[in-house]
Amino acid sequence: MARKRPHVLVFPFPAQGHINPVLQFSKRLASRGLRITIITIASVSKSMHLQPCGASIEIEPISDGFDEADLTCVIKAHLGRFVDNVSQNLVNLVGKFVSAGNPPIALVYDSIMPFCLDVARKLGIKGAPFFTQACAVSALYYHYYEGNLKIGDHLGTTSFSMPAMPVMDIGDLPSLIPDRDLYPVFLSQLVNQFSNFQKADWLLVNTFDKLEEEVLNWMASRWPTIKTVGPTIPSLYLDKQLEDDKYYGLNLFHPSTEACMKWLDTKEKSSVVYASFGSIATVGGSQMEELAMGLKNSNENFLWVVRASEESKLPCNFVTETSEKGLVVNWCPQLQVLSHQAVGCFLTHCGWNSTLEAMSLGVPMVVMPQWTDQTTNAKYIVDVWDVGVRVKVNDKGIITREEVVLRIEEVMEGERGDELRRNAGRWKELAKEAMDKGGSSDRNIEEFVSELLCT
Ligand code: UDP
Repeated sequence: MARKRPHVLVFPFPAQGHINPVLQFSKRLASRGLRITIITIASVSKSMHLQPCGASIEIEPISDGFDEADLTCVIKAHLGRFVDNVSQNLVNLVGKFVSAGNPPIALVYDSIMPFCLDVARKLGIKGAPFFTQACAVSALYYHYYEGNLKIGDHLGTTSFSMPAMPVMDIGDLPSLIPDRDLYPVFLSQLVNQFSNFQKADWLLVNTFDKLEEEVLNWMASRWPTIKTVGPTIPSLYLDKQLEDDKYYGLNLFHPSTEACMKWLDTKEKSSVVYASFGSIATVGGSQMEELAMGLKNSNENFLWVVRASEESKLPCNFVTETSEKGLVVNWCPQLQVLSHQAVGCFLTHCGWNSTLEAMSLGVPMVVMPQWTDQTTNAKYIVDVWDVGVRVKVNDKGIITREEVVLRIEEVMEGERGDELRRNAGRWKELAKEAMDKGGSSDRNIEEFVSELLCT
């Protein structure tokens, strides 16, 4: 009789930027012989476009007790009940697997849901938080949690420095910290990642050693169970092909794949600016207009993702008036787009996945961070990794159309653009090296699996 695959539960926070890296990590675990069950929240999984994830990965929805409600509203208004309901339903789910003869040996959970470790402990299985953000961002939240990033000492000044990090301005902090009164629930969710993380069996982070060497060393000297496992992009984009990587996965939005790829195929090498603000960020109406006019006025073609919920902010007739040089879609297959030879630059909100994806595919960036960790990622993209330029905000708090044009031209044309492209190319090699057989992240995933199997 065939030996059963060891079973691991994986529980991403149900937002696109959390699901994607956790799904890719799951594929790597599955390719090493584990059976994976990805847990989703029932209310969110209703709007998921499910593609088969591969033979050894299954999807299992559980209820948070608010199946008809919007998850953000549930978290804002009923966090305690969300935690209780999800914890109980996780226990029930594990009971179901035990009865079916497939008991899980571990729970890998999104680091912003630390209560999952309590559930794992109660069930007597291993627990590992998966950090979907940069180590630098995690370190900053940790310092804030510990009270080392003091409001009076640091937030009252314009610049500061924390261990193993460059000198930063207040504006480089994850925005939820300086804006702590605006989003207290989200801030506490991020800060509470550190409430019990030291009790976890491993800490998994979506980054790679060479990218965040200093801050990682600082963290590893304190928490030796930390393992870098990124960049978690599908292996086919790193010139390899895992069996399960044929399938992309769990989309909350429907990508216009054919329209984008056909359109890109008609464009010359490095002639397109790809612009996107990810799955959550919203841009104010007048800012949207400046951005639109900047894209229209620049010399370059553009492919712009404007989510359906943002579309009404586009200037009248923008799509038809710019159809010669631009394509606007509600969602695209971002990795396919970034790896297309026509794309010369990425105008990005600097979500961590978008940042890692651009670096892994060697695409230089124009950075326009909006909130949360994006501000810190932008600092590193520009000042540490030297793969992008940042748009300047004017004294009215707006990034003008002229500024958009200038920054796009800086990356798409001229010497500075060449330099950024060369740097991006170097990071692409290092990202590949980390995920290649024997590379730092590949070794860590291998080690994680063997340690799991020894338990
Ligand atoms: N993405 C995509 N199509 C789009 C825009 C984004 O597939 O049109 C994917 C992108 O590749 C990334 C994720 O959605 O994996 C967005 O995550 P990120 O951390 O960059 O931003 P967030 O959405 O969390 O702000």
